[in-house]
Amino acid sequence: MWLGRQLDALYDATLALVYPMRCAACGASSVEARADAPACAACWRATTVFTGDETCCWKCGAQSAGDVPPEKRMDVRCRRCDAAAFTAARSVGKYEGALRAAILTLKHEPHVSARLGRLLYDTQRRRPLDAATRIVPVPLHAERERERGFNQATLLARTLASLSDLPLDEWSVARTLHTARHRAGMDARARRETVERAFRVERPRLIEGERILLVDDVFTTGATVSACAQALKDAGASEVFVLTVARA
Ligand SMILES: [Zn+2]
Ligand SMILES: [Zn+2]
Repeated sequence: MWLGRQLDALYDATLALVYPMRCAACGASSVEARADAPACAACWRATTVFTGDETCCWKCGAQSAGDVPPEKRMDVRCRRCDAAAFTAARSVGKYEGALRAAILTLKHEPHVSARLGRLLYDTQRRRPLDAATRIVPVPLHAERERERGFNQATLLARTLASLSDLPLDEWSVARTLHTARHRAGMDARARRETVERAFRVERPRLIEGERILLVDDVFTTGATVSACAQALKDAGASEVFVLTVARA
């Protein structure tokens, strides 16, 4: 173990000398350890990573002001998420610094760092996501996935599955509409209506009775994950939880 760590550190130091990797968050420092890619240690320190002790809406995870004793946390609701189809959504942290850089880098580099994998796993093991029984990445439309070459949500889900003992299901849900072609002028309601019909469960027998953990990169309005959660519930899922890297 000790020798392994020493060799790892030596390898990192050598690699950093020969191929310095610029931090994707600050652009100034270089990334000291491969495990932290694509951000430097200082940017990771400056990024808000949730501990699970924050006061937040129990359902959607939106942070709220004030302190609530631990036994009352399940009663906190923001009310803006009442219509969302998922049971509960949580993120590793805020959409800033190292997490923002990790999400943006993952759109063109199919690699999830050890640090990000660990953070996803830490979030999944906490309540309420720890009740999940099956991991499902939010699918991309097949055409979009071909353009990009991979689905970043699938990479995140695979990393999480390799760390947890939850089964990974990349095949049960498909995206039917090409929702990327949103018009800039579309209002929130029009966007919601487009996204509502965007998912189809292809293998309901694998979903029935399961507590699904939907994985995606970023939680913005929650409309996409809610639509996907609705499709899963219509197919018989008993609960649908959502895990994202960051919350915008
Ligand atoms: Zn940095
Ligand atoms: Zn909420």
